Amino acid sequence: MSGSPDSNIFIPDVDIWTFLFERGSKPFSNDQVIYTCSVTGRHYTYDHVRNTASKFGCALIRRWSWQKGDVLALFTPNNIDTPAITWGCQWAGGIVSPANPAYTRAELSHHLKDSGAKAVVTHKSLLNTALEAAKDAGLPRSRVILIGDERDESEQVSHFTSLLSFADSNQARVKMNPNTDLAFLVYSSGTTGLPKGVMLTHTNIVSNLAMVATVDGVMLKSKIDKVLSVLPYYHIYGLMFLIHLPIYIGVESVTMARFEIETFCSLIQENRITYTYVAPPIVLRLAKDALVDNYDLSSLRMITSGAAPLTKELILAVYQRLGIPTKQAYGLSETSPATHVQHWESWRTAMGSVGQALPNLTVKFMDLDGKETSQGEPGEIWIKGPTVFKGYLNNPVATSEAITRDGFFQTGDIGFQDVHGNLFITDRIKELIKYKGSQVAPAELEGILSTHPKVKDIAVVGVYVDAIASEVPLGYIVPVHGVVPDEGTAREIVDWLATRVVKVKQLRGGIVWIKEIPKSASGKILRRVLKADAKNDKAM
Ligand code: ATP
Ligand code: MG
Repeated sequence: MSGSPDSNIFIPDVDIWTFLFERGSKPFSNDQVIYTCSVTGRHYTYDHVRNTASKFGCALIRRWSWQKGDVLALFTPNNIDTPAITWGCQWAGGIVSPANPAYTRAELSHHLKDSGAKAVVTHKSLLNTALEAAKDAGLPRSRVILIGDERDESEQVSHFTSLLSFADSNQARVKMNPNTDLAFLVYSSGTTGLPKGVMLTHTNIVSNLAMVATVDGVMLKSKIDKVLSVLPYYHIYGLMFLIHLPIYIGVESVTMARFEIETFCSLIQENRITYTYVAPPIVLRLAKDALVDNYDLSSLRMITSGAAPLTKELILAVYQRLGIPTKQAYGLSETSPATHVQHWESWRTAMGSVGQALPNLTVKFMDLDGKETSQGEPGEIWIKGPTVFKGYLNNPVATSEAITRDGFFQTGDIGFQDVHGNLFITDRIKELIKYKGSQVAPAELEGILSTHPKVKDIAVVGVYVDAIASEVPLGYIVPVHGVVPDEGTAREIVDWLATRVVKVKQLRGGIVWIKEIPKSASGKILRRVLKADAKNDKAM
């Protein structure tokens, strides 16, 4: 068992509002710009966000008799109004439940019903889906509200700013019990099955914010650094690093609604962005996409990647091409999210690692028999600490299966730790390929194959063959533009890999050429989608 190598930090026993907006002192002024919209140039200061949030919270109580524990769903692309809406809801004692903006009507209505949402906040671009889903979930039209440009207010629904007139300075903020009251109901990415409703308390979020700030909060400087916020706000990674961290440390965050390589690069160039949080698919594009050469990205001093495995090879490829270092962070929705964040200087010395455990956490590595592995040996990662979630929504069985009696959350991920406490993620238990009694990690093969000059993108899955071999690794490959996706190229890549890995890890299933690798909005390869069709796909 290992605790954090850093000494534990003091985490105040307060709710999110108190932590962010009733601080004794902070290292920046109230007029510090925190959120800037990359499309309109509109920006919000710390003061503006705090004032708008308290007014919105007050209006929720006055206009809708908002009760403690009521859920507000968010269904919108990244938008600079989201932070104030979020903390406004919590000001009124509410719980915020962000939904994936790519949801269909049926998926959103399921989200609204499952979370028990009392209202939904949306953006003009998604209004029709929001209205239809609200209707399915039994929410009146008056409970659908718009954020974004005020001119978008339609006859159908009001803009949130028109609710603000109901605010009343005599209304008191709802006091929360940070340890037991929920702040967020987030949904996991649905990589291994259906997304799960994850209940996070105020203490969970305050703790993670304080813990993450011990690393990135030390390196990012108010008035000097600028963060490009491209990851989706609705996912816990964006929620923590792009909504909470900037306002806690006083750094400007420039918001993008969705990733697109040219816009991403031109925003870095125009805004002299110094830092960005991404997932591996963006690192892959930075390493391989020819369009990147058209931009000056020299203002970027570091990139953090998280949400899915990233290998040393890709980190090196970006560094060699652009001179930009990439470090990593690791976490889960259930741990609010970050458990490990790499220190800036160790991107090079511990390349490929996700860093050391954050303070106040205890980490164990467990073998299949439920015993701790010896130092340096891989095992399932178990985590204990103040950021471990309260449970899965309406699912006490799944909760008790995930959290042990003595409070360890079993992550389902496998990793090992070097002598300096740097964690290396090997793979997910559910995604390991079982070949003749050996276990093959698809992420490792993907990392190596992604550096092949004819490979644009890659996913590896296990395909069942027979009782002796069990599964063999099969590669789905998107070829680089101009490469002929034929049997000869497939053989060349299979042979190339064979010179780099031991026999059990070779691509015995061959290669299927594909146009695009299915990925979740949070940046994970959806292997289960490929696996479902693997038997019928024609491998070469
Ligand atoms: P679901 O639980 O619904 O199947 P999910 O686990 O992908 O989906 P999230 O909570 O968004 O949902 O993601 C957590 C997972 O992301 C971790 O369990 C881990 O597998 C993966 N992950 C996060 N960061 C990293 C990283 N730096 N390297 C490797 N894997 C990572
Ligand atoms: Mg998960």
